Formats: sequence, C-alpha cells, structure tokens
Amino acid sequence: EWAERGAAKILREVTNPETGKTTKHVVKKGIKDFIFGDTLGDGSYSTVLLATSKESGKKYAVKVLSKEYLIRQKKVKYVNIEKSALQRLNNSRGIIKLFFTFQDESSLYFLLEYAPNGDFLSVMKKFGSLSEECACYYAAQIIDSISLLHSRGIIHRDMKPENILLDKNMKIKLTDFGTAKILDPEPDSTDSFDLFSRSKSFVGTAEYVSPELLNDNYVDFRCDIWAFGCILFQMIAGKPPFKATNEYLTFQKVMKVQYAFTAGFPLVIRDLVKGILVKQPDQRLTIPQIQKHHFFKDVNFKDGSIWERPAPEIQPYKV
Ligand code: ATP
Repeated sequence: EWAERGAAKILREVTNPETGKTTKHVVKKGIKDFIFGDTLGDGSYSTVLLATSKESGKKYAVKVLSKEYLIRQKKVKYVNIEKSALQRLNNSRGIIKLFFTFQDESSLYFLLEYAPNGDFLSVMKKFGSLSEECACYYAAQIIDSISLLHSRGIIHRDMKPENILLDKNMKIKLTDFGTAKILDPEPDSTDSFDLFSRSKSFVGTAEYVSPELLNDNYVDFRCDIWAFGCILFQMIAGKPPFKATNEYLTFQKVMKVQYAFTAGFPLVIRDLVKGILVKQPDQRLTIPQIQKHHFFKDVNFKDGSIWERPAPEIQPYKV
C-alpha cells in the first residue's frame, strides 16, 4: 500500500519487432529506471543517493530507507509523515519536490528533486557568515517558505540550516519533514488549520528548539518562527545564538533566552532578532510582522520577486 499511493505511472512505447506495431504500455517507475551514483548525504535513518533517470538523463536525489531498520527503530510513522507532508506541499516554491515513492523487498525510496548546491549550513561554514545583502536574500525566502507550509497546515518542527537545501540557482528548498506535524483542517472551516494545535512529542535540534517546548512541553507553529530567528542570527554571527558544550547547557540557555550579539552585529537585524527570540510565543513577532520589518524594507513578499531575483554573490559579513 505504501508504494501504491505515490507510485508514478509512465507511458512507454513498445514496438513489436515482428509486426512493427507500436503500442503504449503503462509501466510503473521503479529503481530499475535509475542509475544510482554518489552518496549525497546520510540522515539518521536514511541514505541519500544521486540518481539519474535512464530515460531522460535527469538527475534526482533518492532517499533510501531500510525497512528492517525503520521497523526495528519504530520509525515507520515518521516516514509516512514525511511523505504526507511532502505530498501536501508538492509544487510549492521553497520546498523540495517529491516526485514519487517506490519500494522493493528491503527498502523504501523517495525520489526527490536534486538540490546540487548542498545545504545552507555548509554555505555558512564555508564563508563563516553572510553579508547583510545575502542574509536578507536568504532570510526572505526562508520566512516565505515557512509561511507557505503553515498556510498548508504543516509545522516543520526541525527548522535548521542543514534542512535548508540550495537548488541549481541557489534558491532555498526546505527538506526533512520526518518530524513535521500535519494538522487537519478544522471541522467547521474549509481551508484553515488549527495552527495552535498543541504538540507534545519532543522533536527538533537543541540549538534551534523553542523555550516553550523545554519549559511547558508545548509547541505550535511559532516554534518554526523561533528557529528562523536563530538561523537569521547565525547568518551574521556565524554561530547559532544558543550554543554550549552539551545539550543540557544549550537547553539552559534557551530557557533563559540567554544569548549575546557579536560585535558589530547590524542594528536593524539585532532589532528583528530581538523581536523573534522572545520567550512567550504570543509576544513573538508573527510572520506578517517579520515581513513588514525594516530589515525587509526593499523586499516585496507579494509579487514573487524574492524567488525570481538572481542570488547575490556570497560574501561574509564584515563589521
Ligand atoms: P536527519 O538525520 O536530519 O533527520 P534524514 O534521514 O531525514 O536526516 P535528510 O536530512 O533528508 O535525511 O538527508 C540527509 C542528507 O542528504 C542531507 O543533509 C543532504 O546533505 C543530503 N540530501 C538530502 N536530500 C537531498 C536533495 N534533494 N538533494 C541533494 N542532497 C540531499
């Protein structure tokens, strides 16, 4: 059933060598239709490989998950969440595209859009930090993508630079929806989701986790906004705001909202980060407020231009 729901069917023309008659056959795509190449990355329960379609030569990223391992580690639920979230978000700008899924005896496969420029963490590490112009360019795309997934009733819950991939044009693509929360539409409305739905399970990464999760074991869509604030800080400072030698100490800092701006941190971004890294979720800036902030004064979030503008040359932040 897992494969049936997402399996893609392709039409293949087959010519009978004896009669010369050509007929069209519906064939299901499977791993045999791809040539597997280099390993692109390893996740906690998957391996991502480069794959090339034998038919079109097009490159894809294939996430391979071992069925035995998933069952042993009780992770099957997360794979289904990832698949449902990606299907709900399909064809959305700023989100990695899931073409289809298939399986064989031993593994499950996600055929994903290939993001050849790696992840945002590697870019930040390579340059140490990002100039204000770069930070503005990437932050605008990240917040726009978060806004989109919230509008579709999805909370990512593990927003971090490793989960932001870069496509061939250096446009961002959010990935890793295995720990997402998918909200159901409210019973009495057609297209709104209960974004305040409480979620109790601990998911996420220490440095980007919100204080309400640690203090009250509570998160809603505002945890993604908190993580966005951490990522924005990191673009300029070169390190996340809450970082310590171990997870416990990191959590202590998060709970106390204890962080310090690095020397020369631009005032306008300081102001925005301060408005986001607020302990009480209801006092935290909302996405529309963030988009109206002075930092984004030259950005138009309504006309799609943030996705059309060519990416600026990457430069580190200079004090
Ligand atoms: P995690 O341990 O973060 O939960 P995961 O098992 O969900 O990981 P991913 O984060 O989806 O796996 O992928 C692991 C790595 O593979 C990524 O960090 C990235 O380097 C690479 N990768 C994943 N998807 C793609 C893609 N579409 N294009 C290029 N590289 C990719």
